[in-house]
Amino acid sequence: MTDSDSIKPATQMQYLPGVGPSRALSMEKLGIQTAQQLLFFFPRDYEFPAPPLPIEQIQDGEACSLIGQVSDVELISRTPGKSIVNAIVVNETGAVKLLFFNQPFRADQLILDQRVLVSGVPKMNGLKVEFTHPKVVLINDDEELPKPEILPIYSLTDGIKQAELRRIARLVVNALSDSLKEVLPLPLREKAAAILNERETGIGDMLAPIETAIRNLHFPSDQQALFQARTRLIFQECLVLQLALAIRQRRLSVELKSPVLESSAMIDARIKNRFPFSLTNDQERVIREIRDDLSRPFPMNRLLQGDVGSGKTVVAIYAMMLAVANQRQAVLMAPTEVLARQHYNMLRKMLKDSRVNLGLLCGSLATAERRRVLDATKSGEIEILIGTQALLHAGVKFKCLGVAVVDEQHKFGVAQRELLRSGGEDPHYLVMSATPIPRSVAMTLFGDVELSTLRETPPGRGKVHTYLSHQGWKDRWWIFARQKLDEGRQVYVVAPMIKANRSESSKEGETTDDREDTSSVETVFEDLCNGPLSDYRVGLLHGRMNQDRKQRVMEDFNEGKIQVLVSTTVIEVGIDVSNATVMTILGAQQFGLAQLHQLRGRVSRGVHEGHVCIFTDGEDAPEENERLKIFSETSDGFDLAEADFQMRGPGDFFGKSQSGLPPLRIADLQRDFEIMKAARVLAKQCIRDGSLIESDAWNELRGQVMRRYGKRLDLGDLA
Ligand code: ADP
Ligand code: MG
Repeated sequence: MTDSDSIKPATQMQYLPGVGPSRALSMEKLGIQTAQQLLFFFPRDYEFPAPPLPIEQIQDGEACSLIGQVSDVELISRTPGKSIVNAIVVNETGAVKLLFFNQPFRADQLILDQRVLVSGVPKMNGLKVEFTHPKVVLINDDEELPKPEILPIYSLTDGIKQAELRRIARLVVNALSDSLKEVLPLPLREKAAAILNERETGIGDMLAPIETAIRNLHFPSDQQALFQARTRLIFQECLVLQLALAIRQRRLSVELKSPVLESSAMIDARIKNRFPFSLTNDQERVIREIRDDLSRPFPMNRLLQGDVGSGKTVVAIYAMMLAVANQRQAVLMAPTEVLARQHYNMLRKMLKDSRVNLGLLCGSLATAERRRVLDATKSGEIEILIGTQALLHAGVKFKCLGVAVVDEQHKFGVAQRELLRSGGEDPHYLVMSATPIPRSVAMTLFGDVELSTLRETPPGRGKVHTYLSHQGWKDRWWIFARQKLDEGRQVYVVAPMIKANRSESSKEGETTDDREDTSSVETVFEDLCNGPLSDYRVGLLHGRMNQDRKQRVMEDFNEGKIQVLVSTTVIEVGIDVSNATVMTILGAQQFGLAQLHQLRGRVSRGVHEGHVCIFTDGEDAPEENERLKIFSETSDGFDLAEADFQMRGPGDFFGKSQSGLPPLRIADLQRDFEIMKAARVLAKQCIRDGSLIESDAWNELRGQVMRRYGKRLDLGDLA
């Protein structure tokens, strides 16, 4: 066993005084093997001292403390196992009773007139206040009052108690905190403070040195010290993350090559002439951002976010045409085949009388046709290729890819990038998303990506009304739908499932399970055809249908041959039929906010007002569902994304695997947004001026960045 003087950072837990092998094993389960690891095992919460109260304000069951004098002590029996000590403590505000069972020594400790600090959880017995087994601290007359202590609360596991972990932590903190290596050198903390002060966060001077921070994080001297300690460590965690992201961004720009895609006034005019409308200001701005990126010899890495119908595709087409104007190829990947075909058809129309060569590659192509498309892509004959992401698995090779666009997908993985490289060059990447990313998340999970946002909607769009409805109102809703159909509009009916079916796995994100199938599309389809919508042409669409049938149904709906489309969420993304203005969502409790918002986007495409009606399965009124309520009250996709983030956190929103980053330990994306922003500014500065790489004083920080993110973000070798 080690005595406390010889505790080193690397000392194993079992050699610490009073730990031993079995407790050490329990601590290992908590991820603590060495003294150093214990220093960085942060409390999950704190126990704050109970406030001293006048006796008349003491509440039953609420922890409190008081100072008074012992006015009476009584030992009821000394028999072991049966002793009771009663004491009365008084002060100018009243009297309380203390009770101790089986602690006969209390009778000797609590002598008459002794001053004491009593703390515990009181019980009201009639009008009398009683404490059973309170904590009692004796106060000598000439002594200062003992300072109440804030205690750490650690996460525990079997075999170790809170009090034990506290004792060991105190031992280690006392032995080691003064010799901790500083990760944030003073000049860096000063710079950080300046940035934080500029932003008027009021926490600029809170970046304590590491030894103070660690000490106060475990055993804070007071609330303020605790706050400072947390702030310092939160900042450190944010900075390490932002440095990693900045290094990665820098590295991509230095090491990867991409074709320079020049633009000129003439090219610009030629491309824009192809659009049957003039661009919105937002589209113009984003196109400028993209043009700048494309003119550089390293890959663009840009996420274009904008609500459904904000005109992202048009922007993507601009970027692809710019590639073609520079004798490069472009590829657009859509999330579903239906969408890929829709993009393909739109582009074909737009490029009707031009020499641009288009290709379509998706799963349902016949082998010969697929072969032809792959060959023509490889030879460079096809200049713009449209497909689903499946084309990445089809062994696609480009002659000289200039721009790669992915619609509705959050990130390009490393493996995908590898496939799209041609002739030693990377294409420029543009990712489009209609799921707006909360600002706080954009700065971290997507911190190495540039962000462009379309907030303005193209002119001439009708308003959309959203209603939460009860089962009982379905008949009325169908009357309304018939009215709209008679006016010439079209109607969507969306349900979450195809049909109750046990064995087959679901396709294209549709759910299939053996719940009651009130909300399966097939049942709904039959009911509508035989009931309220029997006079209209109703079509059915779901992911299990073969591609040809799906395609035909979509075309028929497009051309108005089908008036009512009953569908699963295959229609969720991008389908564009501006005459469809009525959206019915059944089983809505099964959809996420982002999905619901996408669906609503389907009926906000034309000049007519849109109507969305939401029904839930079961008895509960839809207003009782927080998510649905927010949805009906909020039409802006960005506000919805923030709300979703508040409710569920970033993990669910994007899928944790999307980010690929380890979770933050002490910082919180939302709460610590300002700190994260400041850390980002500082990280960019440090990478730009090279200070992180050059100075020895930064070794510790560099080490942390590499240990935590080096592999995951492929940061290479900083040295
Ligand atoms: P998103 O991909 O963001 O959902 P799209 O690019 O598909 O949006 O555009 C939605 C609809 O708006 C399309 O029919 C498109 O032709 C049309 N549109 C796009 N930009 C404009 C514009 N500036 N003016 C008028 N209509 C536009
Ligand atoms: Mg789109």
